Amino acid sequence: MQPFGFTQAKTVDGAVAQSGRFVAGGTTLIDLMKLDVETPRQVVDINLLPLDRVEAAPDGGLKIGALVRNSDLANHPDVKARYTVLSEALLSGASPQLRNMATTGGNLLQRTRCYYFRDTNYACNKRQPGSGCPAIDGFNRVHAVLGGSENCVATHPSDMAVAMMALETLVHMQGTKGERQIALDDFYLAPGSTPDKENVLEPGELITYVTLPALAAGTKSYYLKLRDRAQYEFALASAAVVVQVDGGRVKRVRIAMGGVGTKPWRSKEAEAVLEGKAANEQNFRAAAEAALRDAKPLRYNGFKIELAKRAVVRALMVATQNA
Ligand SMILES: Cc1cc2nc3c(=O)[nH]c(=O)nc-3n(C[C@H](O)[C@H](O)[C@H](O)COP(=O)(O)OP(=O)(O)OC[C@H]3O[C@@H](n4cnc5c(N)ncnc54)[C@H](O)[C@@H]3O)c2cc1C
Repeated sequence: MQPFGFTQAKTVDGAVAQSGRFVAGGTTLIDLMKLDVETPRQVVDINLLPLDRVEAAPDGGLKIGALVRNSDLANHPDVKARYTVLSEALLSGASPQLRNMATTGGNLLQRTRCYYFRDTNYACNKRQPGSGCPAIDGFNRVHAVLGGSENCVATHPSDMAVAMMALETLVHMQGTKGERQIALDDFYLAPGSTPDKENVLEPGELITYVTLPALAAGTKSYYLKLRDRAQYEFALASAAVVVQVDGGRVKRVRIAMGGVGTKPWRSKEAEAVLEGKAANEQNFRAAAEAALRDAKPLRYNGFKIELAKRAVVRALMVATQNA
């Protein structure tokens, strides 16, 4: 690990003024610093900031502070009752100990689990722009089939972000130039020729909170995660669905996938195929086909395409079971 300076911020203004690397739960950052993948000169502890609350939003939705721990969010009564998909996604991630430390902001910003990224013996365009991507012709079983470029095929590993994508979450940020907000779908960037730039955050900008919109009465949701073992494992493919059925027809649906994209992957194509149609397996399958239409398999990850389709179909079946 490289030497680094360490300070604690007590206010949001104070945190953004320090132009250092924020640490919240530390479960991503400290790991990567030990591996010399991340080498910040200055680390700013943000755990004392007053961003650890879940509150009702004026529009009936929910405002979630960036420092709310994953365990607290998963078990919050409003989240369990109204945003089930989010609770399920959080509880499918990591381990209880990690979830007790991991925060909402840190989870959104966790880095890829690509083994080449995490091992400094290998080149990696994300770590060192222009150095190359050994995953493209290497062992790429866990890599992306959607959104990849000739420079990077690393997946975004968050479960929580996939559920938040289907819930149409807004991300609120504060930097030295003031506050702004952006839809989570626009927050993450495609790797293109700059895979080192993963999201729209400016250097020193802090995520302060996220907001979930109110859901229409009768909305159902579900998160399904498929992985190599039942616990303590990242998704090979996952699906988050938020769906409203009226008279046997899909009135409104939001579909997002994890484990298959370079970012948590919302499929507006799948949503368009399904809205207005009968809520049945045949139409769910048509939506899943649309969701994976642009998928590009690499040598070892072609199985993810069918796996993700089945995840989407199964998640929709479960969510609409009693609708
Ligand atoms: C063994 C293991 C298994 C895991 N399994 C899963 C899994 O199955 N599913 C899953 O989704 N995740 C999994 N994770 C990842 C885990 O969820 C993340 O490490 C965690 O959510 C990160 O949150 P944190 O608060 O610890 O972030 P930190 O490590 O503190 O920060 C992560 C990054 O976010 C930045 N940051 C943090 N907060 C802010 C903020 N408010 N504003 C701006 N920048 C900020 C930091 O500078 C850093 O770059 C696993 C992790 C481990 C170690």
